[in-house]
Amino acid sequence: MKELIEDLSVLTETQEDQPSTISATNNSGKSRKLYIESYGCQMNYSDSEIVASILHKDGFDTTSEIEEADVILLNTCSIRDKAEQTIRKRLSNINGLKRNKPELMIGVLGCMAERLKSKLLDEEKIVDLVAGPDAYRDLPHLIAQVEEGDKAVNTFLSREETYGNITPVRLNSNGVTAFISIMRGCDNMCSFCVVPFTRGRERSRDPESIIAEARDLFSKGYREVTLLGQNVDSYKWSAEENNKARLEKNEDKIEITSFAQLLEKVALVNTDLRIRFSTSHPKDITDQVLHTMANYENICKNIHLPLQSGSSRILDLMNRGYSREWYIEKINHIRAILGSDCGITSDMIAGFCSETEEEHQETVSMMDLVKYDYSYMFVYSERPGTLAEKKFKDDVPADVKQRRLEEIIQRENRHSLERNLPEIGKTRKVLIEGFSKRSEDFLQGRTSNNKVVLFPKENKRKGQYVNVQIERCTKGTLFGKLV
Ligand code: SAM
Ligand code: SF4
Repeated sequence: MKELIEDLSVLTETQEDQPSTISATNNSGKSRKLYIESYGCQMNYSDSEIVASILHKDGFDTTSEIEEADVILLNTCSIRDKAEQTIRKRLSNINGLKRNKPELMIGVLGCMAERLKSKLLDEEKIVDLVAGPDAYRDLPHLIAQVEEGDKAVNTFLSREETYGNITPVRLNSNGVTAFISIMRGCDNMCSFCVVPFTRGRERSRDPESIIAEARDLFSKGYREVTLLGQNVDSYKWSAEENNKARLEKNEDKIEITSFAQLLEKVALVNTDLRIRFSTSHPKDITDQVLHTMANYENICKNIHLPLQSGSSRILDLMNRGYSREWYIEKINHIRAILGSDCGITSDMIAGFCSETEEEHQETVSMMDLVKYDYSYMFVYSERPGTLAEKKFKDDVPADVKQRRLEEIIQRENRHSLERNLPEIGKTRKVLIEGFSKRSEDFLQGRTSNNKVVLFPKENKRKGQYVNVQIERCTKGTLFGKLV
């Protein structure tokens, strides 16, 4: 059973230093082969599916075998320095392939491409093509430019691009769960974060194209969609105006679709289609969203609500727009509307600029108060060009950051287990996502509040909803039997 338990980190974590996906083989008889690796957040994973779609129209099939590729694209992450170092190592590793196959084209996409622009071509000689997150429609042209013997760069950031009319080619899909991007960019300017610089200004996608994508997925057998954006609660769309600043100025005069309205529209696609969403900024999640979640059984009861720090002074330096007390109120409010069963998960940063031991302890005590179901936890990594890099000193020594992170991880482990124990004896509705990674005698799926459940398969298969009675648990997994 230990082996089954170890499955779980695979399902719950996305790490920027491991590719979250490698393109699957799609052989429709196109003449050229594309291999894509995606790193970092789910937005990158979803963007790679848009890239595969754009290049499919341009004569490319995807392959999962790097040796077969005519073009290799790395869709990169810049969120922490370690993420960029991983890409540089991967490029030097790919260098060997290029030596044996000089016509092989190597492209860097995503946040690192946007941050470094043409500098990347100077620093990494192996790279032929650099394309930022808003430049993917230009890839066929950039590839043609490289074929003619030039290097190619497009890192133009758009205020309008949402790729709304592109149907993604699903890569490595389990056929049950899929991501749908609903917005791009971020206007928040958290002081530690490079995203507003690498992904540009916030813009929302036409709700009709989102609903059409959800309907299409449902008709193909998918049973869960996750609506993606850096800050989904600030989703706002109007047919008349898609410039966010102008839209907010005229809010009372024009018809706007809010995130709560979008959620409801997607929930109405089919009661058998589950909806998740990520990420919610604590300052932006509205009561309307919470009530919409409560009103629809198929909107999953789980909120990713990153705290970052439990100290009001640090939160202020981070420019997060809320205090410790305000966040506690928000959690109480969520639990009052959605009940204590609602999963709440978080992101934490250990050792931000000038963080004292007492302030670190405030993060730990805040975790004791909230008891998150799961958290992604990081040491602070200074990023060039961010507000924190310009204004504050990265003065917490590396060993202190690491020790604080370990304390946070220990707390998180304890709370995850505490949040799973009350599940024992309950019967939960589970959407089956496939076999357990280690044994085809077991199936795995998730509950509405995003807990992974393993159970003996009997005659069930992926894509079905089943009721599972929970019999025991670890901090990462529930184990049960079909009822
Ligand atoms: N938009 C999302 C939000 O605000 O919650 C998160 C985006 S970011 C890709 C994911 C997480 O990375 C953040 O919530 C934060 O905890 C972490 N992060 C961002 N910048 C960081 C940095 N410079 N050092 C360490 N962690 C960082
Ligand atoms: Fe970065 Fe803050 Fe935007 Fe999240 S909300 S992407 S942490 S700036």
